[in-house]
Amino acid sequence: MFVDKAKILIKAGDGGDGAVAFHREKYVASGGPDGGDGGKGGDVIFVADSNLSTLADFRYKRKFEAKKGNNGSGGRKYGKAAEDLIVKVPIGTLVKDANTGRIIADLSGTEPVVVAKGGKGGWGNTHFATPTRQAPRFAKPGLPGEEFEVTLELKLLADVGLVGFPNVGKSTLISVVSQAKPQIANYHFTTLTPTLGVVSMGDGVSFVMADIPGLIEGAADGTGLGHQFLRHVERCRLLVHIVDVSGSEGRDPKEDFRIINEELRKFNEELADRPMLVAGNKCDLATDEQIADFKEWVEAQGYQFFPMMAAIRYDVDPLLNKITEELSKLPPIKVYEPEPMPELDEESYGDVTIRNCDGVYMVEGKWLLRVLRTVDFDDYEGLSYFERLLTKSGVIDKLREAGCQEGDTVSIYDLEFDFIE
Ligand code: GDP
Ligand code: MG
Repeated sequence: MFVDKAKILIKAGDGGDGAVAFHREKYVASGGPDGGDGGKGGDVIFVADSNLSTLADFRYKRKFEAKKGNNGSGGRKYGKAAEDLIVKVPIGTLVKDANTGRIIADLSGTEPVVVAKGGKGGWGNTHFATPTRQAPRFAKPGLPGEEFEVTLELKLLADVGLVGFPNVGKSTLISVVSQAKPQIANYHFTTLTPTLGVVSMGDGVSFVMADIPGLIEGAADGTGLGHQFLRHVERCRLLVHIVDVSGSEGRDPKEDFRIINEELRKFNEELADRPMLVAGNKCDLATDEQIADFKEWVEAQGYQFFPMMAAIRYDVDPLLNKITEELSKLPPIKVYEPEPMPELDEESYGDVTIRNCDGVYMVEGKWLLRVLRTVDFDDYEGLSYFERLLTKSGVIDKLREAGCQEGDTVSIYDLEFDFIE
C-alpha cells in the first residue's frame, strides 16, 4: 500500500542524572565531593533510505523513543551516553512539526539529520564545590530530551512529472520508456499510486519520471485521489502534460488541458509557472485535423507540442530528447530548507520553580528549555533578549522572592550565571 503521510511522536532520551557522592577511603575521615556527571540522552536521527518507497512502516509504529543517558556515579565516573535512535524514511520525506507545520528537515540527501536532540547529562556534585561550599549535597538531573509530534510527508523526487486526465496514457508512456511497470488498463483510476521510473538516454544521461495518477477536476479541493498526489508534482522540475488528442472518450482535449492546469494552479500557485511540455497521445485514433487543430491551439499559448502513440512507442523519442534538453537548462530538484523555531511570545511564558541548594538557585520550567535551545548565547543580541525575557516572564522577581542576592549563582538547566541586580 502506498502511504505518503504519517504522524508520529518522537522523543529523544533524557540526560542521565549527576551523582551526589563523596570520596571515601579507609582511614581518610571525609573526602571531597566526587559525584560524576550523567551521560547524554540518545538523539532521534532521521536517515533517507533508498530501499523504502512509502511511509507504510509508520502506520502501526507511531512512537519513537531514544534511551536515557546513564547516571553519573561516585569516583567522578561519568554516566555512559545513550545510543542514538535511527529512523529510516524514504528519500524525499519532509519532517514537519505537527502543531505548527514548521519544516524541520527534508530527507532528500544522504546526510542523516538530528530531529530531536537528547538531553545533556546533569552535573555531578563535583561541579558545585567552592571554597565556601566544600560538601555540596546536590547534583543536577539530566536535561529532558526534546519531544514532539511530527508529520512525515513524502514528496517524491522526480525530474519530470506526467500529468493529465485519467486514461490518456501516462502509465503507458512511463512503461515504454523505463523499467517502471504501473498498472495500465482502459478504465479510470487504474493506477492508484505514483510510480517512479528512470529513463536512460545513453552516455550516462538519465532522468527520473513520475506517473502522477488520479488528477481530475476538483483534485485541488480533494476530489478523487488527486489531492493526495498533487503533492508529488511539487518538486518536479518539468511537467509533461498528456492529453488524449483524439478525444476517444468523448472528452474535449482542450477542456481537459485547461482543467488540469487550473487544478495545478489552485493547489500551488508556483505550479502554474512550472515549465511544461505537451504530449498529444492516441494519434492513431485521431484525424489529422484534430491533431493539427490542438497543436495550433496549444502552441498559441506558448507550449511545445509532441504528437505520439505511447502504446506502440511511436514518436516518443522527440519528446524524450526535448525533456533531456530542457532538464539540462533547469535548476536541480527543489530541496526544502529547515525553518527556524520561532521565538516565544509572552503567552507561552510558563511557571517556574526555584530551589535554593546551598546558595545555588536552581530554576526549572519546561518552557525555559525551549528558550535555551533557541537563544544564541554567544551573541550579544541573544543575551540581551534572554535577559529581557527573564525579567518580563517574572523569573527575576521570583528569584528575589526566593532570597537570591547579588553574586549568588543562578542555574537554569545547563546555563549558570551570577545574579546581578
Ligand atoms: P493513464 O490513466 O493516463 O495512466 O492511462 P493508461 O496508460 O492506463 O492508458 C489508458 C488506455 O489507453 C489503455 O488501455 C492503453 O492501452 C491506452 N493507450 C495508451 N496509449 C495509447 C495510444 O497511443 N493509442 C491508443 N489507441 N490507446 C492507447
Ligand atoms: Mg495510469
